[in-house]
Amino acid sequence: MYKEDIEQAKKVRLNAYSPYSNFQVGACLRCKDGSTYLGCNIENHGIQGICAERCAFSKALSDGKREFVSIAIVGASKGEEPITKCMPCGYCRQFISEFVDENFEFVFEDNGNIITYKLDDLLPNRFEL
Ligand code: ZN
Repeated sequence: MYKEDIEQAKKVRLNAYSPYSNFQVGACLRCKDGSTYLGCNIENHGIQGICAERCAFSKALSDGKREFVSIAIVGASKGEEPITKCMPCGYCRQFISEFVDENFEFVFEDNGNIITYKLDDLLPNRFEL
């Protein structure tokens, strides 16, 4: 399952709009009902760009989804293969924490191996109301 999600993330990564950084990120968000939502980073000449992770979450949330299992994330510079893990930025970690529970998994591929992290691994002692 996670291998498929990584492959989907690799495909959508090629849709990234990243003329400023030339860094392309793809994400595949898996919902508890089995559906998946894809996202890529979309930059802007201002500072209002969106990361692949929040792109995928925005699509799913606007479709009414509220229960999530995992998000697979890949990233690399344009023209390069994403072979090492691409960790989400701090803003995405905090954003995602609003919508997931402690079982949610962040999925990466690192030199062919699937690696997963929990939110507590990536954002311990996070801000919560
Ligand atoms: Zn981000």
